[in-house]
Amino acid sequence: MDLNLKIHDKGHVDIGGADTVELAEEYGTPLYAIDEDRIRDNYKRVYDAFTKYYSNFKILYASKANTNLSVMRILEEEGSCIDAVSPGEVFTSLKTGFSPDRILFTGNNVTNDELKYIDETGVKINLDSVSQLKRLAKIVDPEGYKISFRVNPMVGAGHHEHCITGGEMSKFGIKENEAVEVYKLAKEMGFEPVGMHTHIGSGILDPEPFKLATTVLMDIAGQVSQETDVNFEFLDLGGGFGIPYEPEENLLDIDLFAKESTGIFKSKLSEYGMNDNKEPYMYIEPGRYLVGDAALLLTRVNTVKNSYRKFIGVDSGFNTLLRPSMYGSYHHIVLANKANEPAENGSKIEKVDVAGNVCESGDLFARDRPLPPIEEGDLLAIMNAGAYSFSMGSQYNSRPRPAEILVKNGNSEIIRERETYEDLFNKQILPKRLKK
Ligand SMILES: *Cc1c(COP(=O)(O)O)cnc(C)c1O
Repeated sequence: MDLNLKIHDKGHVDIGGADTVELAEEYGTPLYAIDEDRIRDNYKRVYDAFTKYYSNFKILYASKANTNLSVMRILEEEGSCIDAVSPGEVFTSLKTGFSPDRILFTGNNVTNDELKYIDETGVKINLDSVSQLKRLAKIVDPEGYKISFRVNPMVGAGHHEHCITGGEMSKFGIKENEAVEVYKLAKEMGFEPVGMHTHIGSGILDPEPFKLATTVLMDIAGQVSQETDVNFEFLDLGGGFGIPYEPEENLLDIDLFAKESTGIFKSKLSEYGMNDNKEPYMYIEPGRYLVGDAALLLTRVNTVKNSYRKFIGVDSGFNTLLRPSMYGSYHHIVLANKANEPAENGSKIEKVDVAGNVCESGDLFARDRPLPPIEEGDLLAIMNAGAYSFSMGSQYNSRPRPAEILVKNGNSEIIRERETYEDLFNKQILPKRLKK
C-alpha cells in the first residue's frame, strides 16, 4: 500500500500526529484535515530530485489544486513559485506573500480587463493564443515586454478525458507547427518572448508521456530559438505528476522522472545551442503531487440503509469533494475509528455504496466498495483530499462549506471556519418589492 495512511495504536486513522476521531469530535464533520509536514516533505522531495540533476530549476505550485491561504504560505516558505490560472489566483498568491517575479500567469480565454489586471500586478504572462497576444499589444507597450507562450505539443495524458490538455481535442495553447510563426510575430510586435510552456495533463504516474512531451517541447523551443533568435530564460514542462489513489497503484518514481526529463532537457539545450549564453531555467508545475496526499476529508456515517443495494450514508457530498462524481475518480475510504478492522475481520468485508447527502443520484463517493462492517456514527476518512477537493467545492443544495484544519506535530488549528447558513446569502440582494 503506497497511500499515505497512518494508523494509531488505538486503531484510529492519524493525520499529522493527531487522532482523526478526536479531531472529528473537536471540530465536527465534514472536516478537511491537512498535514503541514506532508506538504513540506512533498515539496522537498521534488525539489531535491530535480536539482540533483539540474540546478537552474524552479517549482511552480499549480495553486488551483488548493488555494487555502495557509497551504499557500507553507509553499511560499519552502521557496516555491506559483502557476496561477486566473486573476483570482494571482491575487491570492500576492496576498500570501509571493512576489510578482515568483508567479507565472497561464490563463485561457482571458478578457482584456484581466490582461490589464495581470499587467498591473507585474506578473509574467504566459499567452495561450494569438488573440491574447494582439489584445495585449493594445493594453501594454510591447517594446521589450517579456512574455511566453503555451504550446500544444500534440501529446496528451491524464487520468480522465477531461484532464488531458495536449492533443488535437485540447483547447489549450498554440499549435506546435505554428510556434515559429507566432514567436516571430511577437518579436515583430516588439515583445520579448523569454519562455515556452506546455502542460499535457493531470494524474500521470508513468514517465513516458511526460518524457515525450518534454522532447517535443524542447524540439519546438530549439526550432524557435534557431529561427527567431529568441533567448529562452525558461522552459516550462508543466505539471500533472500523479499520486496513487488506489492501494494497488504505485508511487510515482520522482527520481526517475527527474533524471529522465532533466536528461532530455540538457541534451536538447546543447543540441540546439540554447545554453550558449545562459542556461535557461527548467520549470515544472505540480499541483496534485504537492498537496493531494496531505489531506483527509472526515465525514460521519449517519445512515446505513439496506435498499436494493447497501448504502452507507454520510454527512458530506459532491459539494465538498467532486472528483468521484465528476471524473468517476477513486478515493480510498478508511473506517477511521476502526482502521484495523479489515485485517482482524477479513471475512466480514462487504461491498457497499458510500453515498453523500446531496440530492442527486450521482452523489456517491464509492460504488461496490469492499469495506468492513460499518455502523451509524462511525467516522470515515476519505483519503487524498488535498488537491482539487475543497477548491472544487460549492454550496450546492444550500450546504455551507466545511471547515479546514491544519495539523502539525499532533497539534491542530482551524484555518477556515465552517460556513454558516447566513453565509449562503453572502452578496445576495433582495429587491425592495420582494421584501416581506
Ligand atoms: C492544472 C495545471 C497544472 C497542475 O496539474 P496537476 O495535475 O495538479 O499537477 C499545471 N499547469 C497548468 C497550466 C495547469 O492548468
